[in-house]
Amino acid sequence: MSHGKTIFKRIIDREIPAALVHEDDLCLAFRDVNPQAPTHVLVIPKKEIPSLADADDSDAALLGHLLITAKKIAVQLGLENGYRTVINCGRDGGQSVDHLHVHLLGGRSLSWPPG
Ligand code: 5GP
Repeated sequence: MSHGKTIFKRIIDREIPAALVHEDDLCLAFRDVNPQAPTHVLVIPKKEIPSLADADDSDAALLGHLLITAKKIAVQLGLENGYRTVINCGRDGGQSVDHLHVHLLGGRSLSWPPG
């Protein structure tokens, strides 16, 4: 079945469910279905930008909003010991869903560098 929408666009359009933690005019945040840490939230713009590589200067405020929103969610979810934000971009970056998203990971000590 091909419907031309990414899985995240289908979440935005409420065609499939997600465990929402935040919504506003510009973005949506929900729990990752395959969490890599005790807290793993995805913050996505409602605007369909496939990846960071596709963002341009007109998206600067929106990208800033995603990060500030991630920070507020970290406070809301009690990640007072710290957390990590990640944007995977493209094949080498490990991006698997072609709708720009910020991962917010926390609740355990995270190693560095990533694999
Ligand atoms: P990426 O690998 O593109 O950086 O991250 C995509 C993320 O989306 C993965 O962590 C994956 O677990 C998550 N994901 C994929 N499909 C779904 C879904 O249908 N619902 C939710 N909540 N997360 C999803």
